[in-house]
Amino acid sequence: MALRLFNTLSGKIEEFSPIEGREVRMYACGPTVYDYGHIGNFRTFVAVDVLRRFLLHSGYKLRHAMNITDVDDKIIRNSAQAGVSVREYTRKYEQAFLEDIRTLNIEQPEFVVRATDHVQEMADFIAALEKKGFAYRTEDGSYYFRIAKFPGYGKLSKKDFAGMEDGARVDVDEYDKDNARDFALWKAPKPGEAFWETAIGAGRPGWHIECSVMSMKLLGDTFDIHAGGEDLVFPHHENEIAQSEAQTGKPFARLWFHVRFLLVEGQKMSKSLGNFFTLRDLVLKGYKPSSIRFLLASGHYRTQLNFTFEALKQAANSVERLRNFELRLKTTQFPDRAAGAMAELAGATSRALRAALEDDLNTPQALAAVFEMVRQANAGADAGQLGSGDVPRLLAALREFDAIFAVLADDDADKVRGVVEWATREGRAEQVAPQLAASDLFADEQVEQRVTAMERARKARDFKASDAIRAELAAAGIVVENTREGVRWKRK
Ligand SMILES: [Zn+2]
Repeated sequence: MALRLFNTLSGKIEEFSPIEGREVRMYACGPTVYDYGHIGNFRTFVAVDVLRRFLLHSGYKLRHAMNITDVDDKIIRNSAQAGVSVREYTRKYEQAFLEDIRTLNIEQPEFVVRATDHVQEMADFIAALEKKGFAYRTEDGSYYFRIAKFPGYGKLSKKDFAGMEDGARVDVDEYDKDNARDFALWKAPKPGEAFWETAIGAGRPGWHIECSVMSMKLLGDTFDIHAGGEDLVFPHHENEIAQSEAQTGKPFARLWFHVRFLLVEGQKMSKSLGNFFTLRDLVLKGYKPSSIRFLLASGHYRTQLNFTFEALKQAANSVERLRNFELRLKTTQFPDRAAGAMAELAGATSRALRAALEDDLNTPQALAAVFEMVRQANAGADAGQLGSGDVPRLLAALREFDAIFAVLADDDADKVRGVVEWATREGRAEQVAPQLAASDLFADEQVEQRVTAMERARKARDFKASDAIRAELAAAGIVVENTREGVRWKRK
C-alpha cells in the first residue's frame, strides 16, 4: 500500500508521491509570535508532526520548512504599546514556541524562517508581480494584489467569486471570509509604525506574501505538501496560491493538508468562555505533556476533536498503560521459548498500524491496533503464553508505534520542571498546581535513588526507614510496587 492523503485542492483522497524521488518538500504555516501558543494551534502542529514522522518512518527524506510570522498588525500594535522593538517583542514568544514544540515532542522542521529576515526578497517579489500586472500601488505607497486578473482565485476554498467588485480592497491581515477583495501585499507605514526601506519604498510585507516568498525560496516553485490549520484555507492559502502562481505560471503546492480545529469541553475555545488554554496553562495545572500530545494525536486530523479534561485523564492512563507494558517486557524473565503466537500478534499489529496511517493518517485506528496488542499480550503473559522469543518482536512493534506517536519516553518530569521554572520567573507562581510546587522529586534519577535506598533499608529490615521513604515518595505522587520481578515505581 502507499500513503493516501486528503487534498483540499482536489477535494479527494489521493495517493501521495513526491515530485522528486524520495524527497518530500513540505511547507507548514508556523505561528504568529505575539503570545504563547494555545492548544488549538498545537493540534495543528502535532498533526503535521505525525505526518512528518510517518513520512520519515516510511523512508522519505524531508525538506520541511516553517515560517515564524514576526511582523503583522497585532505585533506592530503590541510592541508599540509595550515600548519595545518588533524584534525584542517577538523573540520572547518565538523562543517560547520553540520550547513548547519540544515539550510536545514535535520535531523541529529542517528550516524555521522568520518573515523579517526576508523583507527585501518580498519587496522584489511584489515588484515582479507589479511588472506582470498582478499588483498595483496605491497613493499612500501600499501594494495590492489584483484578484480579477487571476482566474483561478477561489479554487482552494471552492468559493465562487463571480461578480465581485473589481478594485475593492482590504488592508487588514484577516478579513471577511465570504467576500473577495484585492488584498494587501505591502503596507505603507502609518506614523510611528515599524517599517523597512526597500526597492518598492518604505513599508512592511503583508502576511500572505511571507509564505509565498519563503516557501518558494526554500522548496522551489512547485513543491509537494502545504499544511496548516483549516482556518487558513481562506483567505491565507487562497492568496498564497494567487501570488505564487501569478508569479511563476506553474502550480504552487500539489497537496494541501488542512487540520480541523478543536473544541474545548464541547465549545469553541475563547477567552470570554474561560476555556482558552495555552500549552503552559495545562502543564501548570498538572497535566503531563505526553498526555496532551496523546490526546491531540488521538483524533483523526480531519475531524473535530473535543478536548476535555476527562479525555486528558484518560490519555494519561493510556500512556501509562503503554509505558507499563514496555516496562513489563523489559524487566520480566519470560519462559525461554522461541517466537510464537505473540510474535505473530506483534507483526500483525505493525502491519495494521502502517495500514491505518497510510489510510489518510487514521490515528484512531492505529491506536486501536496497538492497544489491542497490549491487551492480548498482557493476557498472554498472565497465562504464561508469552515466551522470551516474543519479546523483541513486541518491543519492535512498540518502537514503530512510538516513532509516530512519541509518548513512551518517560521525560515528562523534566519538561514539567522547565515550565514550572518559567512560571516562577514570570511571576506566575500562583498558577502552579500545588502537587507540582510541593514536589522536589521531579527528576527520575532522584526517584531511582530513593527507591534504591528504600530497598536497601527494607533488606536490612530497617522498616521504619523504608516506610518513611515510601511515604515521602507517595507525597510526591510516586507509587512503588513490589512485583514478582522486583520493585517498580510509577507516577500517579
Ligand atoms: Zn502561511
